[in-house]
Amino acid sequence: MIKMNYGDVKHQKKLEGTFVALLDNADERQKKWVKLRKQLYQLKNEFKKLLPTQLHKLMTLPYTGLAEIYDTYVALRLDEKDRLHLALKELFSYTKDKGGRFNALSDSIIDFFKDKNNGFEIHTCYYCNMTYINYFQYEEVKKNGRKTGKRTQFDLDHVLDKGRCPLVALSLYNLVPACPTCNGPHIKGKRVMNVTLNQRQKLSPTSNLYDFDNQIKIWLRPKTEKIPNTDFLKHLDDYELDFDTLSDADYDKEINFLYLRERYNYHKCEALRLADLKAKYTPSKIKEMARIICNTGKEEQNEPTHIANVITEQIRRDIFGLDFSNEHHRAFHKLRKDILDFKDEE
Ligand SMILES: [Zn+2]
Repeated sequence: MIKMNYGDVKHQKKLEGTFVALLDNADERQKKWVKLRKQLYQLKNEFKKLLPTQLHKLMTLPYTGLAEIYDTYVALRLDEKDRLHLALKELFSYTKDKGGRFNALSDSIIDFFKDKNNGFEIHTCYYCNMTYINYFQYEEVKKNGRKTGKRTQFDLDHVLDKGRCPLVALSLYNLVPACPTCNGPHIKGKRVMNVTLNQRQKLSPTSNLYDFDNQIKIWLRPKTEKIPNTDFLKHLDDYELDFDTLSDADYDKEINFLYLRERYNYHKCEALRLADLKAKYTPSKIKEMARIICNTGKEEQNEPTHIANVITEQIRRDIFGLDFSNEHHRAFHKLRKDILDFKDEE
């Protein structure tokens, strides 16, 4: 739902450099990669085109390339106990408990996402924008003195399942900060969307083709024709929150995959409250309020004073909470933006 922002080209290059530097035993891993890559070529010639010769290139390969590698690898239908598959799992080991020859990288990768210098926005879940995600520092008193630590309240989800395709386990553009609900077994977990390659290459917050925000609009769909466009909250059952995918129906795949329609409808009253506010506080009503505050007469109606304009704008921003909800830093930011639908004003 929220596109990942990696900054400008220069920052992104720096990020990629920092990310590949996290790899421990890089030389030994590279040697192993050369061997395993050859075995993959033997299984499928296409891998020669898809797989970078350098491991660090694979770690920073754009998501479109990862999606193609994933589909090609999964199509091999290797057995879980297959020797090559197990060797790749070891080479690309991500979590600590799996052991193996190489150290796990998950902690250092999570630290990489938390590091303020890297500029990641960790505020709400990138998949749903419904849940806050965060990390915090804590202080603990131990017998031999105080100890500080960091705790994380977000998961790094592998968009493409690393269990089915270990090749994408350590790739930057396969990682999305997500809430435990989205990453959990009831929503995404290890599931991967059942889509065509073109769709897959687009449908990830990490893909440069991803354009959910512009293509999809959240709106209140009236269930009957006879409801007035006011007092929305009194008509809770007459509306349904919907995602309009007319401009690009591919996004239906993602919306269904993450159960966004169902999950958002649970919070329908938040949208109805905003629709109510919008109906109640029309631009002319807000202007009138500013005029009263400025104590200016009706003769100024056509040409409001500068201060009246400033106050009009401030009242509008306060009523609709426009300064409060900045980008996706607040939960339901997209919902708020789409329901209020003030063009170019946030
Ligand atoms: Zn989520």
